[in-house]
Amino acid sequence: KGEELIERLYYAIKKQLHHKETMAHYEKADFGLLLIYTDELELASRLEGMIQTLEGVFPNIKLKFRFGVCEVENASADVEELYNNAVLAREILGNDEQNIAFFDEAMSKQRIWERKVEDDMERALNNREFQVYLQPKFSTGEELLGGAEALVRWIHPTEGFVPPNKFIPIFEKNGFILKLDDFMLEEVAKQQAKWISEGWKVVPVSVNISRAHFTREDLAEHICGIVDKYQVPHDVIELELTESAFFDDKDTLLSTVKKLREAGFAVSMDDFGAGYSSLNSLKELSLDVLKIDADFFRGTDSLDRGMLIVTEVINLAKKLNMKIVAEGIENREQVDFLTEQECDLIQGYYYAKPMPLEEFEKNYKNV
Ligand code: C2E
Ligand code: CA
Ligand code: CA
Repeated sequence: KGEELIERLYYAIKKQLHHKETMAHYEKADFGLLLIYTDELELASRLEGMIQTLEGVFPNIKLKFRFGVCEVENASADVEELYNNAVLAREILGNDEQNIAFFDEAMSKQRIWERKVEDDMERALNNREFQVYLQPKFSTGEELLGGAEALVRWIHPTEGFVPPNKFIPIFEKNGFILKLDDFMLEEVAKQQAKWISEGWKVVPVSVNISRAHFTREDLAEHICGIVDKYQVPHDVIELELTESAFFDDKDTLLSTVKKLREAGFAVSMDDFGAGYSSLNSLKELSLDVLKIDADFFRGTDSLDRGMLIVTEVINLAKKLNMKIVAEGIENREQVDFLTEQECDLIQGYYYAKPMPLEEFEKNYKNV
């Protein structure tokens, strides 16, 4: 049926081509069209028209058509590359309402960067270019060190310091995040073991576990395996997950979290309030810690409403027996407000930015 549909589509599209234009079926439901046009607006409206015509040809099937456009500026350009650029533009549309996108240089820069990241990542892991930075969390009231979060940094030999938002999304797409998160967990376990052996009463350190991990059924065993190599007690390691993990295999997620908590790890929900369906995930998943996103505090107009929501979220979390960590806290007013609301821990630039292990040790170690 699928093949048949593709074939009918092919002919339906072909019917709309003008003299000297051509097309090909590439793969899956992807077609490459070589069209003649004078300006982008005119082309865009022609493509809109094509979409409507095609939808009319298949009235009983729900089809979604998207166009990525790459202009042929030079007749000797590589066709494969032009086509890939058009595909890239279309991919950037994602699930937007919009269905036509024109390729531009920024997209191509991003693609070059992605390729570089993919070429370099294995080497980087082996060469220890990825480093663990720790950002402390402080208790409200006494303002003592109460925990820390491990955040990755890439110290690239030619690019220098690369922040995570420039590579984590790429690793999440290509699966390398699995290796990187394992590395971070292992480094944290190793570090905690060392500090414990030196007599430091260590605080729990949290590690980010990307959504991609939650499809494996033996994730809990896998995590125990890494941590137990260093014989550190599980209560000094906390695992942060985002509610997006819910969108995949819910049963696996629920059973993994249960196993992890039974094994003595604290599990926290990261970025609470930044996404959607937050309350629903709290209903189904019992967790130890709720991390409230500082987004609630940003944007001046809605500050009062933000504070109201934070107050109620804290109350709710307490009723659910969860600890509350507020993150992204940048000023004293926020700290005072959160202290009043009996938030447990605060993480943010107000106290400290993420820092290398040595610096963390120098600042906070007291044997
Ligand atoms: P996240 O898990 O929500 O981490 C908190 C982010 O907020 C960190 O950004 C941190 O540096 C930043 N931050 C902390 N305090 C403040 C503040 O007061 N103001 C502002 N504006 N920002 C603050 P960072 O280190 O750039 O990490 C960004 C994201 O990358 C993290 O967000 C996390 O989603 C991801 N990430 C970082 N390391 C890892 C990792 O090892 N594994 C995985 N899976 N993701 C990671
Ligand atoms: Ca986090
Ligand atoms: Ca967060």
